[in-house]
Amino acid sequence: MSTAGTSDIHLIAADELESTVREIFTAAGCSTDEAGLIARELLGANLAGHDSHGVVRVPLYVDWMRQGYVLAGQEAQVVTDGGAFVVLDGNRGFGQTIAAQAVALGVERAQASGSCIVALRNAGHIGRVGAYAETALAAGLISIHFVNVAGSPLVAPFGAVERRFSTAPFAVGLPLPERPVVLDFATSLVAEGKVQVASYGGRQLPADALIAPDGTTSSDPHVLYGDYGPTDLRQPGGGDGAIRAFGDHKGSGLALMCELLAGAFTGGGCAGPLDGPRKGITNGALSIYLSPAHFGTQAEFERIAREYLDWVLAARPADPAAPVLAPGEPEAAMRTARLAEGVPLPANTWGAIRRTAEALGVTL
Ligand code: NAD
Repeated sequence: MSTAGTSDIHLIAADELESTVREIFTAAGCSTDEAGLIARELLGANLAGHDSHGVVRVPLYVDWMRQGYVLAGQEAQVVTDGGAFVVLDGNRGFGQTIAAQAVALGVERAQASGSCIVALRNAGHIGRVGAYAETALAAGLISIHFVNVAGSPLVAPFGAVERRFSTAPFAVGLPLPERPVVLDFATSLVAEGKVQVASYGGRQLPADALIAPDGTTSSDPHVLYGDYGPTDLRQPGGGDGAIRAFGDHKGSGLALMCELLAGAFTGGGCAGPLDGPRKGITNGALSIYLSPAHFGTQAEFERIAREYLDWVLAARPADPAAPVLAPGEPEAAMRTARLAEGVPLPANTWGAIRRTAEALGVTL
C-alpha cells in the first residue's frame, strides 16, 4: 500500500484490496468461493469509480452478518417458474451470490429462447447493478433492471421532506460491439453509499443532495446519519433528514416505479413503512433479458444504434475540454486507470476496514 498525494488518502493495489476483503469474509464465515465473489464485486465497484458500492461496505456487511440480517451460503429458490419468467427468493443470502445466480438463470433462458423476465426478492445488498448488466451484455443480451431496497426508506419523493423511497437503482445494458452501453444509477440525487463516502472524508456531496425536515437542502451527511465518530458505522436511521429524488417529478416517478415493480410485484416488499427499527435491508429486482439474435434484428440494431450513438457523441460539447460521453464510458475509463494506479481510499474508510479485520483476527 502507498500513500497518495494527501495524507488522508491511501492508494491500494486492486489485487491487494481484493485479497484483503476476501480474507475478511472468509474469517467472518463465508466459504472461500463466496468470500471471493463478494470481494470481486466490491472491488469491481471501486474500479468502476463507484466507491459508494465498493469496499466501504465491508464493515457494514460484516455487521449485518453478525446480526443475522444477511446469510452466508444461500441459494436463490424458485418460487414460480413460468419458463419465460421466473420468480426467485434470495432468502437474505449475500446479494453478490444471489444476484449472480439470478443473472445466470436469466441469461441462460434468454440465450435459449430469446427473452426471460426474472423477478428477484429478498436478496442481500446486490451492490453495483451495472455489474449484472455487464454480465448480460458479455453474453450478447440486452438487460433492463428495476431495483429497490426493501426496508430502507431514505429518499424524499418530489415535493416532500420525509423519506418514502429507497435509493431504488435502475440499469440498462446494451451489447453493441466495441461500444457496449451501460446506464446504471440510483434514482436518488446521490446513492446512499455516496453519503457514506462523504461522511468518511471522501468526495463531498452536491449542495442540494439532502433535505432537512425544515425543507432546507444540504450536503452535510449528518442530516442522514445524525451523530457519528470518524470510523463508526453509519446508521441511516440516525438522522431525521432525507436524500432527494433526482430529476424532480420525473426521477421521483421512476423511483416509484422501481419500488412498485421490484418491491411490490416481486413480493419482496417496498422501502417502507417499517414496523419497527431497521433490521438490515434486502434488494428486489425485476430484470428483463432480451436476445437481439433471437429477435432477428441484431444486424439492424447494431448498425442503427452504432450510427446513432456516434452522432449523439459527436454533438459539440458545451465545454470543449469535456467531450460528450456514453453511459458506461466513465466506468470503463476509471477501471483502466485504477487497475494501473491503485484504488484511492480515504483514511477513515481504510481505518474502518482495518478495525473490522482486526476484530475477526485478520492481520493486514
Ligand atoms: P451516478 O450518478 O454516478 O451515475 C452513473 C451513471 O451515469 C452511469 O451509467 C455512468 O456511465 C453515467 N455517467 C456518469 N457520468 C457521465 C457523463 N459525463 N456522461 C454520460 N454518462 C455519464 O451513479 P449513482 O446514482 O451514484 O449510482 C452509483 C451506483 O450505486 C450504481 O452502480 C447503482 O447500481 C448503485 N446502487 C445500488 C443500490 C442497491 O441497492 N444495490 C442502490 C442504489 C444505487
